[in-house]
This record gives sequence, structure tokens and C-alpha cells, in this order.
Amino acid sequence: MAGVGGVAEAAGAAGAEEVVGVAGAAERVGSLGEVAAAVPGKSVGGTPAAPGVGVGPKRELRRAAVVVPVEESRGAAVETARMQDALAAARREIGRQRGEIFRAHLALLDDDAILAEVWGRIAGGATAPEAWVAATGRVAGEFAALADPYLRERGADVRAVADQVARVLLGLPRGAVSGDGVVFAEELTPAEAAGLDAGRVAGVVQRAGSPTSHATIVLRGRGIPAVVGWPGPDVAEGTPVALDGSTGEVVVDPPPGVLRRFEERAAAARAEQRASVARAGAAAVTRGGVPVAVGANVGSVGDARVAAANGADLAGLVRTEFLFLGRDSAPDVDEQVSVYLSIAEALGGRRITLRTLDVGGDKPLPYVPMAAEANPFLGVRGIRHSLAHRELFAAQLRAIVEVARRTPVSVMFPMVTSVDELVAARRVLDEAGGVVPGLRVGIMIEVPAAALTAARFTPYVDFVSVGTNDLTQYTLAAERGNPALAGLAGARDPAVLRLIGAVCREIGTGVTVAVCGELAADGTAVPELLGLGVRELSVAPPRVPAVKDAVRRCPDPLPAPTAPV
Ligand code: PEP
Ligand code: MG
Repeated sequence: MAGVGGVAEAAGAAGAEEVVGVAGAAERVGSLGEVAAAVPGKSVGGTPAAPGVGVGPKRELRRAAVVVPVEESRGAAVETARMQDALAAARREIGRQRGEIFRAHLALLDDDAILAEVWGRIAGGATAPEAWVAATGRVAGEFAALADPYLRERGADVRAVADQVARVLLGLPRGAVSGDGVVFAEELTPAEAAGLDAGRVAGVVQRAGSPTSHATIVLRGRGIPAVVGWPGPDVAEGTPVALDGSTGEVVVDPPPGVLRRFEERAAAARAEQRASVARAGAAAVTRGGVPVAVGANVGSVGDARVAAANGADLAGLVRTEFLFLGRDSAPDVDEQVSVYLSIAEALGGRRITLRTLDVGGDKPLPYVPMAAEANPFLGVRGIRHSLAHRELFAAQLRAIVEVARRTPVSVMFPMVTSVDELVAARRVLDEAGGVVPGLRVGIMIEVPAAALTAARFTPYVDFVSVGTNDLTQYTLAAERGNPALAGLAGARDPAVLRLIGAVCREIGTGVTVAVCGELAADGTAVPELLGLGVRELSVAPPRVPAVKDAVRRCPDPLPAPTAPV
């Protein structure tokens, strides 16, 4: 069962009587049947979603209901313009968020099927809000009725975007909470997750949602503890709540002993975080004296500022697609140069690793027409997309070369499978003026074929960075966004570790092996990764201090790599 461990450990340390069913004391509720009989003080398990411990009064997220007023259409031309303005405003709002999370939402704003229905309804005499709410409601309903849990999950994306645009149309505020505490919601939208004040929110409990939803990814990136799929009872506003996002436990109205221990754990975690941040500026070196660069994965100038405040040694991954998505045309070279330089500046001039455009497949660019694909994750993605759209690629490389003349830069090609692709990409780089002192060139290793033949890439690269998010999905044949496969795709799988070991063995000396997928942020995986030969890690900005500490705790000698089978 999810949601065991934390309270028992905490309570067990000081007095087992508080977890064994004494009236009014904390005890566990495991099944849904038991939940129905939940009483204050019981620990009700949800699904762990974002780590951390939080304590505070319950605060329900309140949203003014979207009620479409009954009114006459002001004519198709006016209603069409109203709709277009609202879509543009929502596009700007979403575009300001973290690009890689919100790209699915941006794509929905351009969804042909939804928009065709909206324009049809407006032409038939509906107002813009009537047309939008009816069309998106129908599509969301279709998703909700599907058997496939992944597709049902995408229905949440439709609902979130539908809500966001409807609020713009009707001038309604986004969902909000009053006061500090633990936020309860049926399900947060990503925009709501991004809008929460991390200094005031002790944690989030969602009655629905999933550990792989976009809102959850945002909460994790912002360091807010969260539990999803919480089956507990109604909770009165202001009731004290304790939660542990690592175990899924939520204790409503905990008895004083349990509350105190949660508060102690939360305070200890905060103190630990403060201490980690205080020493994060120093280099991370293992007990045996092995230096390890710990960088940040950034998607915007704001992320880069957070990374600098958390002591990142570099940006180990800049997801440049954030600049290309959610607009009608590609940014020109000057705009790219200006944004990349701003990221470098926000990082105090530390090295930035600019990953070339990683779009295609599941992340289409509205202004680059692409054939429909049956299996987008196995389609024209990453470097394949760039090589198929040379002008776009060449312009990006010209911008990267220009930036490299002014600040330390690495360029990194995503989704490389064959040496031929790398050679072709390097040729475009050369044509863009790529011989600049200090410009390092590397590839992401995300495809098992590239991992197993890493030696063949060595002559052409200064570094490789293992993208464990994609490498895991391709190794386990388990799509990374599918909540039904979270147990597979989220695992620290021995096959993936073997592949990382193969990369380290194959690549030889002189070429740095980095890891920039989510696995790098798992402190318990760090000793094993370093034992395999990884020497650079890049993680979400708030995780940098904890990962540096994990490096410092690594034993001497480092764990020996497991022998290949
Ligand atoms: C990865 O695949 O591990 C990675 C870091 O790239 P992204 O998550 O952007 O696909
Ligand atoms: Mg990837």
C-alpha cells in the first residue's frame, strides 16, 4: 500500500501507542472501505507525488465557477475576434511557464478539431464563451470515457486548458487559496501549480491527479511536497494536516505527539535544505576526492536564476525548445542570442549546455508542418527533426556559435542514434562557424543503440550526457508519460544502469560522461552512477544542493560497477 512508513517511523521512535488504534490517536487506514470510517488523527494513504514533509492548516483551493452567461452573440466577427484574443492571451500566459511542461497545453490551443468546432458554433450564432466551453467540454468528455488510463490523463490537460481560456474570456481569476497551509484540491492545473507561493504552501493534497501529471512535475520542480489520488474524507477548512510526499501519508487533525513529530521532521528537512543551500556554492567532491560537477536543467532565464541561487556549477541542460514553442514563427538568430546570453548571465557566466531543438513527434511546432506519425516517440524527433529542417537548425547553430564567442558554451544534440547523424550535425555546425575556442560539442545518449555503441561517437565529441528519461522509456518499452506504466518507466532499472555502465566503458578517457535525466536527482542512485564512471550530474534547480550533498557522502572507494552479463 502507498503511504506507509513515515508516521510509523516517527511515532515509533517516541511512543508506539500513537499508531496502534488508541481512540483519537494516529493509526493507519489502508483500504477504501476503512477510509469511509476515517476519524481525525488517522493516516490515510494517497500516492506519493513530490517528496518532502509539510504541516499546516487545510486550505481548499477555491475557483470561481466558470458559468457562461446567457447573452446574445455580438455577431460572428466580434465573437471570433474575442476568441482569438483569449487564445492569444492564454498562449502568452502558458508560454511564460516552463516550456517543456506546458508544450502539450500550447498544442491544445492550436488543436484543429477543437478550433473547427469553436468556429462552427460561433458561425451558428454562439458567443465565444458558449462555443469554447461546449467544444472543449465535449472533447474532455470523450477523453474521460476512454479505457486507456494515459488518454484519460490527457483529458485533464484538455480540462486545464479549457478552464484557463474560459477564465480569460470571462475575466475570472485563477484558482486561489487564502492563507498559509496545506492546499487541498480535486486536481490542480499546471498553471495553478506554477502560481502557488512556495513560501506559504506547506504541501498539496490532490484527491485526483497522478504522479506523472504536468501539475505534479511543476510541484516537484518547485520543491513543494505533494500527494495525489488521496481518498480521504471531507476536511473542514483550517483543520491541521500533516503530509509526507515521499510516502503518500496524510494525517488529518493529528494528535499532538504525531503533529509534533511531523513538525520536527519538516523543520529538520528545512534546516537540512538551508544547510545544503549554504554549502551548495562549494564544489562537490566525494570522500575519496573525486570531483563531480553538479549542474541544473533549465528551461528559462527564471530557472537559471534559481539554479545560480542553489549553487549550480553549470547548466548541464538548457531545453531550448521553450523559446520555440507557443508562437507563430521561429525566433530569429538575434532573439536566440539575446535569450541564451541572458541565461548565461543569470548563471553568473558559468558554462551553459545548449541542447539544440528537441521537438517533433509529441512536441510539434505549429509553424513546421509535419506528417502525422503512428508512434511519435519513435518518429522524427530531436536531431532527426533538425536534420530534416536544415534552415531552422543552421539558424540555431549560428546563434549558439555567436553566444559561444562571448561566454562558455557547450552544444548538445538530442536523440542521436547513429554516428552518421552526428557527423551530419557537426557539418552544419562547421558551416555555422563552429570552430570557436571553448565551444564543447556533445550528444545526449537517450537511445539504447547509441549507449551500446558509444565508442563510435568518441572521435566527434567532448562529452556525452545520458538522458535517462528517454533512455528508460526506450529500454523498457514503457512510454514516459503513461501513468499506468509509472512503476516501469519510473524505475531505477538494472537494464538502464547496465547501459550507463556500457557508455562509461565504451567512451574511454578524455570524454566526460554526464547524466541529465531524472535519475541524476535521485540521491540514492548517485554512488552507483559515480561508481560506473559518471562525472557530471544535471538536475532540476532546487535539487542541486541535495545532489551535491549526495556526492559528498559517496564512499571511498566508489561502488564497483556490476559486471556486465
Ligand atoms: C531525458 O530524456 O532524460 C532528458 C533529460 O531530456 P528530456 O526530458 O527533455 O526529453
Ligand atoms: Mg530526452
